[in-house]
Amino acid sequence: MTHSGSRSVKFQAVTGTDSIVKHGVSQTISVRHHCITSMREYESKSLEELRLEDYAAKGTDSVKFQAATETHSMENNEAPQTSNTHQCPTSLTEYESKPLEELPPKDYSAKKDHTRSQGDVPVDCFLKSMDTILDVTKCEVCLEAARRDFSQCVNSHFICMVCKTSLSKSSCPTCLQPFSNNMPSVFVRQIIDALPQRCKHLHCTVYLQPDDDHETYCGWQTLNCRICNSHVYGKDLLTHVETEHKEFTIFGTDSTLIHKITNENEIWTLYSPTFVFEQFLWVDFINCPFTKIYSIMFSPIPNGNIPKETIYAKVQYSPVNSEDKTQFTTTLKLNLDPTCADQNKIYISRSMLPHFINDKKEIHTLITYAKN
Ligand SMILES: [Zn+2]
Ligand SMILES: [Zn+2]
Ligand SMILES: [Zn+2]
Ligand SMILES: [Zn+2]
Repeated sequence: MTHSGSRSVKFQAVTGTDSIVKHGVSQTISVRHHCITSMREYESKSLEELRLEDYAAKGTDSVKFQAATETHSMENNEAPQTSNTHQCPTSLTEYESKPLEELPPKDYSAKKDHTRSQGDVPVDCFLKSMDTILDVTKCEVCLEAARRDFSQCVNSHFICMVCKTSLSKSSCPTCLQPFSNNMPSVFVRQIIDALPQRCKHLHCTVYLQPDDDHETYCGWQTLNCRICNSHVYGKDLLTHVETEHKEFTIFGTDSTLIHKITNENEIWTLYSPTFVFEQFLWVDFINCPFTKIYSIMFSPIPNGNIPKETIYAKVQYSPVNSEDKTQFTTTLKLNLDPTCADQNKIYISRSMLPHFINDKKEIHTLITYAKN
């Protein structure tokens, strides 16, 4: 042959005969061989050789492939008719004059079909891919999906920042190599951001929902106990105070707090643990002679519950002298977001305090809580 490729002689399916057994009887049927190398002109070539020579040529996909179907009865006469689908495009009338090899070239260079969506990916394939992605992006310490704040070792292993702080050595626990100083690539960043997001707090296993407030109220935040300064998880603080600081009263929804004010001209803070409507609060009494203000601050402690109700705190002072008409009453709507404790403050002018301090140097604060 002087021409290369499969174009020198037009493809024509080689026909022949074969025999099959139907209903126990041997029958002769005609067959068509759609493999181009079954033609005498090409029988000295391998399919690969022909395909290579054909790659530059144009094929055709002007007719969308649709499997040809036919029905035939099974060997058993009682069996219902079954339909047979031919997945080979050359079984279509439009392509029956072409060998399979003639069709692919254009298909190979076909543009990506952008109309496909992820919905076309079968669920099992999708889940398998997700498993692989979650495995290669897992944190080498907690062995779960790496958190948004992560670090990588020089071998690209992931380690959550919070998990990294718990390591005794500053090297990757898997490959023992140092951590990389390079910023993760934009691509890696995008992949991590696209994966299910875990709460940023160490030991918390919660996966965040979109627009989730969980992290703000997560009970796994480490806090300092106001009394002994030790690190305690928010969710454990009430139990900690109850067991470790038995000398402290835990106040409830209707409490009169009695403080002895002996050093009025110094700065001091008194802490009052309070538990109202499933919410633990530190109620701090702060005396500041320089600003001439006596203040009360309410600090809600995150315990893992996102508050659904509003809590109001009503603070009242009554004069010690019955003829005195000086009163102090104010109600504060508490912001239960633990990061907004500064907003939960009540200020009392220190000039008012002498009206409320009795002979024993005590001041009685009545605090009542209500919710809606
Ligand atoms: Zn981790
Ligand atoms: Zn590593
Ligand atoms: Zn959490
Ligand atoms: Zn403590």
